[in-house]
Amino acid sequence: MTIQVQNVTKRFGTFEALNGVDLEIQPGELVALLGPSGSGKTTLLRVIAGLETPDAGRILFNGVDTTATRVQEREVGFVFQHYALFRHMTIFDNVAFGLTVRPRATRPSKDEIRLRVMALLKLVQLDWLANRYPHQLSGGQRQRIALARALAIEPKVLLLDEPFGALDAKVRKELRRWLRRLHDEINLTSVFVTHDQEEALEVADRVVVFNHGRIEQVGTPDEVYDHPATPFVYQFLGSVNVFHGRLQEGAPAAAYVRPHEMTVTRAPQAGSIAATLRHVQRIGPQARLELQDVANAGTIEVHLARDHFDSLDASEGELLHVTPTRERVFRHAA
Ligand code: ADP
Ligand code: MG
Repeated sequence: MTIQVQNVTKRFGTFEALNGVDLEIQPGELVALLGPSGSGKTTLLRVIAGLETPDAGRILFNGVDTTATRVQEREVGFVFQHYALFRHMTIFDNVAFGLTVRPRATRPSKDEIRLRVMALLKLVQLDWLANRYPHQLSGGQRQRIALARALAIEPKVLLLDEPFGALDAKVRKELRRWLRRLHDEINLTSVFVTHDQEEALEVADRVVVFNHGRIEQVGTPDEVYDHPATPFVYQFLGSVNVFHGRLQEGAPAAAYVRPHEMTVTRAPQAGSIAATLRHVQRIGPQARLELQDVANAGTIEVHLARDHFDSLDASEGELLHVTPTRERVFRHAA
């Protein structure tokens, strides 16, 4: 299913939650909507689902305007962060729900429903829990069941709104890999909302970065991380050092440099910045340095390979020299 979002604006009272959003999602893609809280991600997901009507613009599924299509006819499956399962129903009945409530004419037979539900429970690797109740499952298992339930109606589009947001970090990491495999296994177009940049970069084919109801950038994880289009994207997608200065013609500007895009030496080099080593944290193969810029007392964060740092033989309090290996300059006022 191709999803086209064309010039969509959505207001709540005078507040503009979405401001002229354009986006095209290709069949089979897994796209992440990434942005801070309140930036409009959920609103866009709800507009795509048909749960909100845009004030301007339109949504097309496979080239057809969906404005007049009812939610039930859009063939959309949902998973939300707190998509509570029905507590009084078994796992089997929860997954079967979307099928059993269909009008008689389109409802599959009891046997067909059983086959389909068991196949879905196998797909999410929880068929052995069919007869249990939701409170007997872990949070991660419940979200997998929520996903099976969303898939039961055989949607063409799967919409996920922070589906793993309430789970602890380790389970979240497992589930996001698992979601990626599942998405590839079944033929679906998926849109995934998250405020977690690592989650978006790891899971998605393309990342859509939101800020204040507008798209700042759309690209593959590598594109948005390595070539941020704006200072906002730079800062939102990971740690960054910002060095303020002036361009040759005098205009104020700032250079953005990621912590791993710097080298550290004992002697000054062309373009290097003198800084005092304040703190070192060794995490596995990496050394994370916190330095203080001698010129303006600002903090500089540098990530080095641990071997490299060890070979410098530097200790806290020493004066070192930091040189960006890659930087991106943005003019001020951005
Ligand atoms: P996100 O999912 O990125 O956190 P949302 O799309 O939920 O952001 O919300 C975007 C903005 O729109 C927020 O400021 C939110 O308060 C506002 N908003 C969302 N839904 C409503 C609503 N039904 N009524 C009023 N304001 C809303
Ligand atoms: Mg949201």
